[in-house]
Amino acid sequence: MIHLTNVHKTYNNGAPLHVLKGIDLDIEKGEFVSIMGASGSGKSTLLNILGILDNYDKGKYYLAGNLVKNLTESQSAEYRNKLIGFIFQSFNLISFKNAVENVALPLFYQGVSRKQRNIMAMEYLDKLGLKDWANHMPSEMSGGQKQRVAIARALITKPQIILADEPTGALDSKTSVEVMDILKTLHSDEKLTIAVVTHESGVANETDKIIHIKDGMIGQITENYNHDFWKASSSK
Ligand code: ADP
Ligand code: MG
Repeated sequence: MIHLTNVHKTYNNGAPLHVLKGIDLDIEKGEFVSIMGASGSGKSTLLNILGILDNYDKGKYYLAGNLVKNLTESQSAEYRNKLIGFIFQSFNLISFKNAVENVALPLFYQGVSRKQRNIMAMEYLDKLGLKDWANHMPSEMSGGQKQRVAIARALITKPQIILADEPTGALDSKTSVEVMDILKTLHSDEKLTIAVVTHESGVANETDKIIHIKDGMIGQITENYNHDFWKASSSK
């Protein structure tokens, strides 16, 4: 689904900063992986490239079989809208829109009618257990509720891939578990491909495969197939 070979990225606003130094990465359809590394190791830079929010300098990135390189703004928007749902640490909700309007927004950009947008947004809010919060503003909601609104917004375009940048970074530990449980369910029930970026091993341990990133390079990759099994047996 996601295949990178020797991807490099240098920021040039100011003194050049070589952040990604030859990333090789494969994420197959239906995988649930984490990309774990220290702050500043290039995780968000990598995730933004995966989500075609930013471009790269060297190497190759294939997304669902297509080379992602030199796309026009409308081509990248089309790939994003068709394939990818984003979740961010700080939720990135629009503060002057209520929950249902936030969730419906991606459909506005797809030209879906207001009526249909609202029906679908309500459906997704309901799925995330937030039906009663539809008319509330982000400022009236807890962090966990805001992240669930953001997840509903990410899902409404029926993406195949969810990219999450520190999705639990602004949440307390109980709410973090709830959010990771939602991602697990999306993986197992909806067969979504999910990549979660995190600097917390506790979050990474909830995924099936941990891909370590250090100083802009991929390091160790750990299969974590039995995480639920071990958790279940250790709690007995
Ligand atoms: P992480 O998400 O792992 O904390 P980032 O990918 O955000 O790391 O950042 C990697 C490095 O690139 C950091 O040193 C950061 O300061 C720098 N950086 C990130 N974004 C930009 C940008 N837009 N312009 C210049 N430097 C950036
Ligand atoms: Mg980051």
